[in-house]
Amino acid sequence: MKIYLDHAATTPLEPSVLEAMKPYFCNFFGNPSSTHSFGKETKEAIEDTRYKIARFLGANEDEIVFTSSGTEANNLAIKGVCFANKNKNHIITSQIEHHSVLEVCHFLEKEGFSVTYLPVDSYGFVSPDDVKKAITKKTILISIMHANNEIGTIEDIEEIGKIAWENDIYFHTDCVQTCSHIPLDVNSINADLVSISAHKLYGPKGVGALYIRRGTRIKPLLHGGGHEKGLRSSTENTPGIVGFGKAIEIAEDLMQDEIKKLTFLRDKLINGIMERVSARLNGHPEKRLPCNVNVSIKSINGEKLLLYLDREGIAASSASACSSSNEGPSHVLNAIGVPEEFIYGSIRFTLGRKTSDEEIDYVLDVLPKIVQKIEIASPIR
Ligand SMILES: *Cc1c(COP(=O)(O)O)cnc(C)c1O
Repeated sequence: MKIYLDHAATTPLEPSVLEAMKPYFCNFFGNPSSTHSFGKETKEAIEDTRYKIARFLGANEDEIVFTSSGTEANNLAIKGVCFANKNKNHIITSQIEHHSVLEVCHFLEKEGFSVTYLPVDSYGFVSPDDVKKAITKKTILISIMHANNEIGTIEDIEEIGKIAWENDIYFHTDCVQTCSHIPLDVNSINADLVSISAHKLYGPKGVGALYIRRGTRIKPLLHGGGHEKGLRSSTENTPGIVGFGKAIEIAEDLMQDEIKKLTFLRDKLINGIMERVSARLNGHPEKRLPCNVNVSIKSINGEKLLLYLDREGIAASSASACSSSNEGPSHVLNAIGVPEEFIYGSIRFTLGRKTSDEEIDYVLDVLPKIVQKIEIASPIR
C-alpha cells in the first residue's frame, strides 16, 4: 500500500492536464512573441488561459501575469511594489507566512525597508485589529496569506483587505494553498495582489501567476524582451501555462464536492488520531483547509514517526516540505505556541483528490502502533 498524504507540498498532475499540454511541446511550439502563424497559435493558447484564470479569480485578463512559481509571484508582488513605492518604506506581514514571503521581507530589511511581523493567536489567526494598529504613514503593503500551508488556518482576509483599502495601502495575499481549493474572489477580499501556483492544484510544476489589480504601482524583477506587459520578461512556458488553465478548469467543476469529501475525511482522521493517541490539533478546528490535518503527538520524535510511516507506505510531512531541511521546530508551530512536550511530535497529513476512506482507515490503524513502538524504544522522560 502506498498512500500519499502530502498534497500541500505538491499534487500529482491530473492526466487530462497532461493531455491538454502535450500538443504544445512538439506541434505548437512557436514563440508566442513571433508574428507568424506558429507564434499566433501559442499566443492564443496563452491568452485563452489568462482569460480562464482571470474569470476564475473574478479579475480582468490584463491583471494576470504568469510567473515560474508561487515563490516568484510572492517575490514579484512584494519586491515589485516596494521598489515602485520608495517614497514609503514599511511592510506589514505575519510571523507564519511561507518562506517565500518571509525571506523576501528579510531581504528588504537589509535594503532599508522596515517590516512588522505580526504575531498570531494559538489557532494561527492574525488579528485584523493588530493589522490596523501596525499601520503607519510609511506603510506601503500588507501581506497576509489566505490559508497557512502548515496548520491550514484560514485567515480573515476580507477584513484585512478592507483595512488595507480604507487606509490606501496595497494588500497582497498568498493564495497558493487556497486557489481552487476553497472559494476565492479578488474583489470580495479587496486584494491588489494575489499569488497562485499550478502544482498545488493538480497542474504542472514551474508555473505560477500573480494577480495585479489595475493601477497598482509595481516594478518587474526580470528585465528583457518586455513580455507580460513588461512585468515579467522571458519566453512564456506555453505547455505549463496551458496546463495551469486546464487544471483550474477541472478544479472549478470539482471544488464544491471536493470540499465536502475532504472535510469529512479530514475530521475523521483528526478525531480518529485524538481517540487513539495523546495528541493536540494544531490550527483551528473549523476555519481550516478541508485537506489539512496537523497534530502534535505528546513526547514523540516526529521525524522518527515520519520515517516509520514511510516504511508502512504513508507519506506525510513533519512540518512543511519547504522547511524540512531546516533545523528545529517550524516557525509556524513556534508562533502558535505549541508546548515543548508536543512540538517535536508534530506531523502534517494533507489529503487530496484521490484520498479514500480506506486510506484514512489504514492510517488510523498503523499510526497508533508506530507511536507505541517509538514510545517503547525511546521513552522520553
Ligand atoms: C508551495 C507554496 C508556495 C510556493 O509555491 P511554489 O510554486 O512551489 O514556488 C508559496 N506559498 C505557499 C503558502 C505555498 O504552500
